[in-house]
Amino acid sequence: MFGKNFQRKYALTDQGVRNTKKGAFWTVIVNLVVMGGVSVLYLLMSGFMDTLTGGAPLPGAWLPIALTVLFAILSFVTHLQQYRATYGLVYGEVKATRLRLAERLRKLPLGYFGKRDLADLTETLMGDVNRMEHVWSHVLGYLYGAYISTAIIAICLLVYDWRLAIACLWGVPVAFGLLFGSRKFASRAAERTKAAGIRVSDGIQEALENVREIRATNQEARYLAGLDRKIDEHEKVMIRGELGTGVFVNAASVIMRLGVATTILVGAQSILAGRIDFMLLFLFLLVITRVYAPFDQSLALIAEMFVSQVSADRMNEIYETPTAEGAETFAPKGHDIVFDHVSFAYDQKDVLRDVSFTAREGEVTALVGPSGSGKSTCARLAARLWDVSKGSIRVGGVDISTIDPEVLLRDYSMVFQDVVLFDDTVMENIRLGRRGASDEEVRAAARAANCEEFVRRLPMGYDTPIGENGARLSGGERQRISIARALLKDAPIVLLDEATASLDVENETKVQEALSRLLAGKTVLVIAHRMRTVEAADKIVVLAEGKVAEQGSPAELMAKRGLFYHMVELQRQSAGWKLG
Ligand code: ADP
Repeated sequence: MFGKNFQRKYALTDQGVRNTKKGAFWTVIVNLVVMGGVSVLYLLMSGFMDTLTGGAPLPGAWLPIALTVLFAILSFVTHLQQYRATYGLVYGEVKATRLRLAERLRKLPLGYFGKRDLADLTETLMGDVNRMEHVWSHVLGYLYGAYISTAIIAICLLVYDWRLAIACLWGVPVAFGLLFGSRKFASRAAERTKAAGIRVSDGIQEALENVREIRATNQEARYLAGLDRKIDEHEKVMIRGELGTGVFVNAASVIMRLGVATTILVGAQSILAGRIDFMLLFLFLLVITRVYAPFDQSLALIAEMFVSQVSADRMNEIYETPTAEGAETFAPKGHDIVFDHVSFAYDQKDVLRDVSFTAREGEVTALVGPSGSGKSTCARLAARLWDVSKGSIRVGGVDISTIDPEVLLRDYSMVFQDVVLFDDTVMENIRLGRRGASDEEVRAAARAANCEEFVRRLPMGYDTPIGENGARLSGGERQRISIARALLKDAPIVLLDEATASLDVENETKVQEALSRLLAGKTVLVIAHRMRTVEAADKIVVLAEGKVAEQGSPAELMAKRGLFYHMVELQRQSAGWKLG
């Protein structure tokens, strides 16, 4: 009952499973104590009835009083234990789960974070855990405890009188059957509500991000109307979902209660037939109202439990994504990067097939090829942002899949198109390259990266905040900041993605100068877009549809008159054409 499946289904930690067991145990005890109280009531009543009908002496008052006090105390103690075991312990579970998720996230391949929407991840860490918390504390222990205690009580009733017992309890399995049948509906409704909610927040975010463009183009009314529609849609989906589950839950509750009616019917008949006496019917009626109580509590929340499956699935997805781990030391001999028969697929989609090439230390190796041919993927694999599916990538003879990504990345500088800048000063943004670098070192890197001239124009020089993600900087300036970072880091391997973003000629020259300082003496793997870079490279790897089509020095490839030659010719013609 509380095995691996249970743990996975409710995304519990090991401790969480133990706590739930405790909660269920105390729920069973509470329910049995309540039943004990009911039996005492029954005994007293039948004693009283005997006095009324048979003239037996009236039992003394001390016994009922003593029993009442005893059960009050028992009831208090067991409820307290139940409370501790369900609500109290579960708060630790929330903390443990967040830590478990965070620890897992830390070890996931970095590429994972490019694939998943970060807002979505935050939502899992905070929102999904909160939703599960409610299920852990308010539902699981009670529900499973109720299953067990109802089974025990059902057996006792069956032994007493099986006809009456069936009349009492038939509603319970039917009600649960109905609920579990509605489960698909509930989780589909939950998914729909969630998707509509995400559409609303995306819409709001988009509107905020593009507020300038929207105003400038007088699109406010149109935009707001669109947002209005999304909000209405969200509301509608949510109401529909809640109404639907509400109908099922209430129907289940009513069906369970029909048991009272059937018990009275069957009981009355049995009394008439002389099979049982009135007191036994009275006992059954007392018992069944108590049987429903623990279910009622969880029934109201069972819809939530179904809905929570979406949250649990999302948490499980994180738990079950393979992590990237490895040795804490990385001692390569030199920094040649060797792709050795590498194949790779994102999810199911094959992107690289049997790619082999070597990028030598001190040389610039340019990856060229049509868009979608797998150039960026090669660069990502070279830094172990993802792990290869087949073959291996070695740096200085060491297979990088055996090295902890955090350690590995100390030897890499990455200058990619999407420079991430933080809302901090220019100084701190560059210092990110190497923590602990002195101001003077930061300035030296900035000078070498040709940042100095634009930094001087900023109102507070290096201490100017640059706005969220560098809002106050131009594309070329942002790039130079990221080059300065890389220069400061001075790692032996540089992965470079040349921006296709249009830089003006002056900017481009400055960026090129900065780059040539950065690249000297390093192992450089560049995703090349500019002819100038390609012609100056020591080696060119031409990718086409995820395979290496050609490789060699620019001169060799030109002489070969293959794919590369044609690409160069095409570029020349179009450039010439433009000039003309
Ligand atoms: P290039 O850099 O040459 O333009 P990429 O390496 O970016 O090529 O992409 C190669 C192929 O892999 C493309 O078909 C692209 O759609 C796919 N791809 C790239 N990144 C991802 C990703 N994170 N998830 C799934 N598919 C991806």
